[in-house]
Amino acid sequence: MHTSFDVRLRRLCPCAECKGEWGQPGKLDANPELTPQQTELGDMRPVGRYALMPIWADGHNTGIYSWEWLALLGREQEQRWALYLAALEQAGLDR
Ligand SMILES: [Zn+2]
Repeated sequence: MHTSFDVRLRRLCPCAECKGEWGQPGKLDANPELTPQQTELGDMRPVGRYALMPIWADGHNTGIYSWEWLALLGREQEQRWALYLAALEQAGLDR
C-alpha cells in the first residue's frame, strides 16, 4: 500500500501525545484511521537551528523533528516505515 511521505511523517510524530509515553501507547497507535486534516501538512516552522516543527491542518504542532532525524528518515524511509509497521503489528494493531 502506498503511504505518502506526509502521512508517514505524521504517523512517526515523536511527541508524547502521538507516540505515547511511560510505556503507554500513543494516540495515533490506537487510532488506525487518521483524518485528512491530521495528515495534511499546513506549515513548517524552524525550531532554533536544530529542528523543524510541522503544523498539521488539524492544529497539531507538538512534534519536533530534528534535522538529523529528518535526514535519517529521508535516507531510510522504507526501512523506518517497515520497522514502524512491524512494531504496530507486534502490538496487535494493524495501524
Ligand atoms: Zn504528535
